[in-house]
Amino acid sequence: MKKLLLACVLLIVPYAFSSNSITILIDPGHGGKDPGHLSRVKGLLPEKDLNLLIAKKLGHYFEYNLTHVNVLYTRTDDSYPTLRERVNMANSKNVNYMISIHCNGSDNTSAYGTETHIHNYDSKSSYKWALAIEKQFRTRAGRKSRGVKTGNDIGHSIQILKETKMPTVLVECGFLTNTSEANYLNTSYGQEIIASAIFRATREFIKQKHKDINFTPPSKQVSNTSTGGVKYKVQIMSSIDPLEVNIEEFKRLKYKVERVKVNSKSMYKYKYYIGPFDTKKVAKKAQKSVQSKGYKDAYIIQFE
Ligand SMILES: [Zn+2]
Repeated sequence: MKKLLLACVLLIVPYAFSSNSITILIDPGHGGKDPGHLSRVKGLLPEKDLNLLIAKKLGHYFEYNLTHVNVLYTRTDDSYPTLRERVNMANSKNVNYMISIHCNGSDNTSAYGTETHIHNYDSKSSYKWALAIEKQFRTRAGRKSRGVKTGNDIGHSIQILKETKMPTVLVECGFLTNTSEANYLNTSYGQEIIASAIFRATREFIKQKHKDINFTPPSKQVSNTSTGGVKYKVQIMSSIDPLEVNIEEFKRLKYKVERVKVNSKSMYKYKYYIGPFDTKKVAKKAQKSVQSKGYKDAYIIQFE
């Protein structure tokens, strides 16, 4: 038994200490016997289920858009790890960043909007990260941001935020006690937009923190050589469920958006493109334009 344990430790250690990658722990709040906040509308999911759906979408964004990021979860099903277990997991697995996903609730049913909570450990980093998330909620996701909250703001400290030894944020994705926000969070579109906002903010944050790591997967690095007969498109995003291409989000780009279903192992089977463009120069201009409108990870693809 001891020998086996030692072997495991030896296997894990070189990887965990590699400065060439980072580990993010995603914590879907509540679970199992603890449903979290409940919606007032019959048939809508309790907080624990929405947290898990958003958390998994977020994890997939990391896995399919970045390299050198290991994604861990405190739970991937309807189980209930205690707060102590969640904290221990964060502190024992060489986790660089922890993000806890929640939905809010209030006696005041008109209260709505997002909040990101931080605590003391490396509060400067957590604050920066939290600000980026709230900014994405406001600008990209079109949500009402209630801002970044500290332990003092809410009058008590949250165990996860108090006891983890790495920058940690706890995101409240919206109020389930507000009917229109509960309805929004119950759509896969809403979950997608919320998860992608958190992803974009987190990517921006970790890129700044780890300038020595290239998080861009090789498939997304644009080659600089181009030949005749090749055309270009700009991929603006991908999704698990199909989104309509005539939604406001896309209309404001002023380019016709094309949705393509691809055969891939990824859950993200729907890709959204603008183009085609004859030259890379024109494609670059289009890429810059959509990037300035919030699609920061838009990238150029070549096709024959
Ligand atoms: Zn909660």
